[in-house]
Amino acid sequence: MEKMLIVDYEKCTGCRLCELVCSVFHTGASNPSRSRIRVIKWENVGFYLPMTCQNCETSFCTEVCPTKACHKDPENGRVVIDQDKCIGCKTCIIACPFGHPFFDIKERVTKKCDYCDGDPQCVSFCDMKAVDYVDADKVQMAKKREVANKFVDLMKQVR
Ligand code: SF4
Ligand code: SF4
Ligand code: SF4
Ligand code: SF4
Repeated sequence: MEKMLIVDYEKCTGCRLCELVCSVFHTGASNPSRSRIRVIKWENVGFYLPMTCQNCETSFCTEVCPTKACHKDPENGRVVIDQDKCIGCKTCIIACPFGHPFFDIKERVTKKCDYCDGDPQCVSFCDMKAVDYVDADKVQMAKKREVANKFVDLMKQVR
């Protein structure tokens, strides 16, 4: 069953634990710069944006990837990057309206949220429940749009 990450910006306290656990899970080191979730503090209004993949229904990142490294897994609907196929062209980074994928300077490939293979560590460790992993079909389309639109509005203001 397809699942998706939902972020509630109003619950986020900016503790950045999600960044730490994500980086530890994926790199073995607590290095937030290599985390696949980025918590951005918007100074002007003093709130935090935990940025991760929205698993878009129409995913620009997969559409523009020249090698199909970035693709939607047909079995579970997760948008993931096959690191062996990634040539590091960064096109998906430019295409993503949520500013999510990032270039890993050390490995010279682009990385994104991989949903921790179905067991999201950011969700497990977020005491505030600011991130959650829910059945996609239980999330009403209107709710998805509301969350996406809110995020896009915020990103426009941050950029
Ligand atoms: S762990 Fe939760 S509350 Fe803390 S920064 Fe991440 S999303 Fe926000
Ligand atoms: S990486 Fe960006 S464009 Fe691709 S599915 Fe995630 S949020 Fe959507
Ligand atoms: S950086 Fe990698 S995943 Fe992104 S578009 Fe280029 S080849 Fe595809
Ligand atoms: S689901 Fe996993 S990979 Fe994605 S942001 Fe959360 S901890 Fe990182």
